[in-house]
Amino acid sequence: MARIAKTHGVNIDSLLDLALGVRCPGCARPGRMCPACRASLRAPPKCEAKPLAGALLAHGGEYEGALRSILIHAKERQALTLLPQLGEVLARTVLALLANQEGVPLDSRAGLLLVPIPTQCSHVVERGLDLPLELAKRAAKRLNSEGLTVRVHSGLVLIRKPADQSNLGRSQRKANLAGALRWAGPMPRARAILVDDIATTGATLNEAIRACRAAGVEVLGAAAIARTP
Ligand SMILES: [Zn+2]
Repeated sequence: MARIAKTHGVNIDSLLDLALGVRCPGCARPGRMCPACRASLRAPPKCEAKPLAGALLAHGGEYEGALRSILIHAKERQALTLLPQLGEVLARTVLALLANQEGVPLDSRAGLLLVPIPTQCSHVVERGLDLPLELAKRAAKRLNSEGLTVRVHSGLVLIRKPADQSNLGRSQRKANLAGALRWAGPMPRARAILVDDIATTGATLNEAIRACRAAGVEVLGAAAIARTP
């Protein structure tokens, strides 16, 4: 198709839209992901301490605009082609988190665990995708290629099903999630970074930090693709 477009002086993105209905997942312009939306995935990650209890949250940007649309595509439409780019975003947020940790050298000997926030089984079945786990795998691969020693460990398990969080406020979310997670299996020697796709009020991440620390697991912080404004 690219050759036909070149020969006839036609824009490849217009052709893709015409033939396949392909649209940018960030802004719905015809064609593949547009340069502006691609750039929104390359924004420098931010680190903040406020939403989490005694740990830093690093994220790739606010959950709005192109980043929000891209995440919705990946999550609800199982757009697997977006996983490599989102994995890159997560790898950069992990690096930003490490760079902001006092006294934690960015060396390859220490070893790190990326611990995905468990997704409810029903959501995985519905969507056919465990997004935090898939993103963690891709980020780990990228970080290992840069000389770090990183592995993914699904150490956290849901021990009860919390109610739907979407209409709950900050304190209600906290109460809803209290005691919902537990560390399963032996205590790892490596330090953990929690991984999620979207950080909302921080209630889930704080419950995950609590569960890890209750089991003696050292948590360096959390990394998410986006944070709700
Ligand atoms: Zn776009």
